[in-house]
Amino acid sequence: MDFGATVCKPLPLCNICPLNKTCVAFNQNKIDLLPVKQKSIIKKERWFSYFIFSFNNKKFVRQRIAKDIWQNLHEFYLEETNTNPEWSAGKIKSWLKKSLNINNPTNINIIVAKKQVLTHQIIQGYFIYVELTSKPEFKTAAGFWLSDAEINSIAFPQFINQFNSKTTIQLQVL
Ligand code: SF4
Repeated sequence: MDFGATVCKPLPLCNICPLNKTCVAFNQNKIDLLPVKQKSIIKKERWFSYFIFSFNNKKFVRQRIAKDIWQNLHEFYLEETNTNPEWSAGKIKSWLKKSLNINNPTNINIIVAKKQVLTHQIIQGYFIYVELTSKPEFKTAAGFWLSDAEINSIAFPQFINQFNSKTTIQLQVL
């Protein structure tokens, strides 16, 4: 029997309910008030596209200093959007040129990230690995160029560790 659908329903049948002797709502005359309905949390969707720029066996990394999730952890170059950017090779190349004046990527791989659900946010995105023949100047993102060994010694959010560990990701070479 579905108790919630047949007895303790929006207009509850308290007089025939087998639980009415112990039911707090019934005994305190609060059947209109109890149980308190949980407000459903509306989770904000965020799309994180991480560009892993590689030059001379070093990758660009920065620290997240803003008051936001993952504060003080590290990340790769981030392009955040509210919707799925649906990257393709052509779209990536034109974005690199237009946004960062990068004209010379020699190799581009895109990895679809496994989404991470946080209390108030859903993080989805991509890891886009880009090999470069010259070091770009990033005007809006101060960071460092680190070797893989150095990258392994600093802390990243779990969302990025899926790329660093390369265990549960879907690799799509463009
Ligand atoms: S007595 Fe309590 S549990 Fe039973 S129907 Fe009424 S409100 Fe629901």
